[in-house]
Amino acid sequence: MKIKPIASSSKGNAYLVSDGTTTILLECGLPLKDLKRRTNFTVPSDIAACLVTHCHNDHAKSLNDMLNAGVDCYALKDTFESKGVTEHHRAKNIEINKLYTVGTFNFITLEMKHDVPCVGFLIHSKETGERLLFATDTYLIKYAPKDLDYIMIEANYDVRLVEDDALKNRLFKSHMSIDTTVNYLKSIDISRVKTIYLMHLSSRHSNEVDFKKRVQAATGKPVVVCEE
Ligand SMILES: [Zn+2]
Ligand SMILES: [Zn+2]
Repeated sequence: MKIKPIASSSKGNAYLVSDGTTTILLECGLPLKDLKRRTNFTVPSDIAACLVTHCHNDHAKSLNDMLNAGVDCYALKDTFESKGVTEHHRAKNIEINKLYTVGTFNFITLEMKHDVPCVGFLIHSKETGERLLFATDTYLIKYAPKDLDYIMIEANYDVRLVEDDALKNRLFKSHMSIDTTVNYLKSIDISRVKTIYLMHLSSRHSNEVDFKKRVQAATGKPVVVCEE
């Protein structure tokens, strides 16, 4: 599986995942013209589908443009409704804990815990036999998937860097702290994992170098911090 982070922050998220046969886009939180430019025009013509976790613009900004560009988009009903999509033949409504197929990929939807309905994805390539966990905009993950080869996980903030109490309380109920990320990774079987990708770092409340070090130390795995 090839994973290419395109953008990762509260300003916009997009990630290309390919198994050599099928390429999919996870999140479309940038204007379509930026997605085209940053992916060298892999988006929209060379992707089989776009999967969107939730309605916030840093994840779903160009959902309408993607549909109109002829891309099959998989998202919750709530996400489509928030974007004003009532009916579109490219809009594929997904539900929690269901299995879907796109080309040589299967994916299972997982329930995330955010301030709006949000899904994560457990993606399996029939081509390479590899499995990827994609989990962002969630303050906890209640699943412990096995036989993972790649993990893309949110590490939004370090509670020690958040001074405002109201903000702290909001973050507790919407995003993943580095402590939660590390504890989660220590709680699941990562023996097969090749690379861990940290996503959606807050520009004000995170420290990229420290986060990378902590996750590497806790897991012994190569860690990639996705750039803004
Ligand atoms: Zn977000
Ligand atoms: Zn969000």
